[in-house]
Amino acid sequence: MIKDYFHKNRPVYSLEVFPPKQDTDITSIYDSLDKFKELHPHFISVTYGAGGTTSENTFAIASYIQNQCGIEALTHLTCAAIPDKLFLTNFLTNLYRNGIRNILGLRGDQPRGMSDEQFASRYYEHASDLIADIKDAYPFSVAGACYPEIHQEAASLEEDVAHLKIKVDKGVDFLITQLFYDNEAFFRFLDKARSTGIDIPVLPGLMPIMTAGQVKNIIELSGCAIPDHLRHAIDKYRDSPADLKKAGLDYTKQQMDDLLAHGVDGIHLYSMNKVETAKYIFD
Ligand code: FAD
Repeated sequence: MIKDYFHKNRPVYSLEVFPPKQDTDITSIYDSLDKFKELHPHFISVTYGAGGTTSENTFAIASYIQNQCGIEALTHLTCAAIPDKLFLTNFLTNLYRNGIRNILGLRGDQPRGMSDEQFASRYYEHASDLIADIKDAYPFSVAGACYPEIHQEAASLEEDVAHLKIKVDKGVDFLITQLFYDNEAFFRFLDKARSTGIDIPVLPGLMPIMTAGQVKNIIELSGCAIPDHLRHAIDKYRDSPADLKKAGLDYTKQQMDDLLAHGVDGIHLYSMNKVETAKYIFD
């Protein structure tokens, strides 16, 4: 189980993949996983479409990671995709009976095509409600999400961390952060979490910027800040994709070195199915 690695194998290194779109060939993700395996990550997490559209593939890919690659799989699951308790119980039973012992319990955002009313009346309101039922069902190693630069709906760091404490107390074994580019923001968040009594491992999540076009999406989705020196590099190499990619990868490497020098519990790389990215950072 992943939670045991934090005692035996610190720092813990992990990767993240997402199931390919429903109308694309699924072979490529399995080929990528065979290559990710050569990097010997402690675990690989598999995302879950907020509306449940990836459910079958998330399960199939997690099962491949666990049973064919021999690497711990962390399956993401979102409240927005759970209509009732039976759905949850069956999903968890499928995981457990197939040897998967790790799950990341998430609220998820409002899926495209779901009305405000439907989203507001979801079966589990907060990730903490889902996590309580996961813990009751099977002895999974359970992860939760956290936000060094505050979740977009929270009014302040204090409020967000107070909510995080509720979630952790429901049985979270370790946390993975939203991606960030400013290590100082992570250290501030970690101090606040520790002083609030959150003492479980926290994996900082990193994602290299590889194209200028990515920046807008990243800011919109995560709300994270881009430090000046990274922004200058992006502007400088805007017309030179190869240089921009290298600058983005090197920035993430420096971020990782600094975090490790500060004794973090490990590094979660938002590798997003890109083997070369993971190789460059983790080699
Ligand atoms: P919660 O912990 O429920 O928090 C959401 C908001 O509610 C916060 O503002 C929090 O302060 C507030 N809150 C929490 N508890 C309470 C409470 N008891 N009372 C009042 N307010 C409360 N999305 C996907 O769709 N699929 C994925 O696979 C996926 N993977 C992710 C992986 C990581 C590591 C991270 C960081 C995010 C991921 N997301 C994913 C995005 C995530 O679903 C969204 O960020 C979502 O908006 C919040 O999810 P959460 O689990 O953090 O929610």
